[in-house]
Amino acid sequence: MPRALCLMYHGLSANAAAPLGADPHYTIAATCFADHLDALTAAGAHLGSARDGLQQASSHAVWLGFDDGDASNYSQALPILQERGLRADFFVNPARVGTAGYCGWSELRAMAEAGMSIQSHGLTHTYFTHLDASHLREELRVSKAEIEQHLGQPVTLLAPPGGRAPSGLAATAQALGYSAVLGSAPGIARWPAAKNPTAILPRVAVTAGHLSPRVVQWFQRGQWALLPLQIRYQGLVLAKQLLGDGRYEKVRARLLGSAP
Ligand SMILES: [Zn+2]
Repeated sequence: MPRALCLMYHGLSANAAAPLGADPHYTIAATCFADHLDALTAAGAHLGSARDGLQQASSHAVWLGFDDGDASNYSQALPILQERGLRADFFVNPARVGTAGYCGWSELRAMAEAGMSIQSHGLTHTYFTHLDASHLREELRVSKAEIEQHLGQPVTLLAPPGGRAPSGLAATAQALGYSAVLGSAPGIARWPAAKNPTAILPRVAVTAGHLSPRVVQWFQRGQWALLPLQIRYQGLVLAKQLLGDGRYEKVRARLLGSAP
């Protein structure tokens, strides 16, 4: 069965410090991202987008994705990918496109024309677990329609904001024309999901401090190397359930030292 390590990035900074307003935990230096690509290539990984990878049957795949549509997707990530002839998925929120700190439609169009895959991260970045069924369907339907209308490229993938996935999300997404949902639970993606066609594919969040030896270890050792991240993720899921999203975000901001 084909398998892939699916990496989830956010913003890239031109120097070591995160840009003003960006989440420092999720922002990594652009040079560090370039190091990841070069180290993974040297280790034999087949790097590319999930959109393209899901059509292939590689067992050495590493999928590259960016959530949120940060302005650095265009200014930093695009040239680094293009220099290496690589493609990635960019999960964006149409309601944020063109606002301060985010890519505009003209930038996303240039990225799409360069072979990048522009996909849905919902319409407004509201957590899907906070929406009733009809609002959830609107987020999925309108975000897909707006991206397709602006870029003329089919939207086939959905990544729920914050990885928050209400039960039945993949089935709802499929009914609205998406072919796969990528979540935030760490793990190795396997497809086609013969036994469970509505499964949510795992992704590994790359955060500040994840240097290339660690990322290569995830690729080479797979599930075993991801075990500490999986245990930590389950702990965070439990904390969110116990505290609720609002209180959880405040505690997280205090622990990580970012703005509340
Ligand atoms: Zn997000």
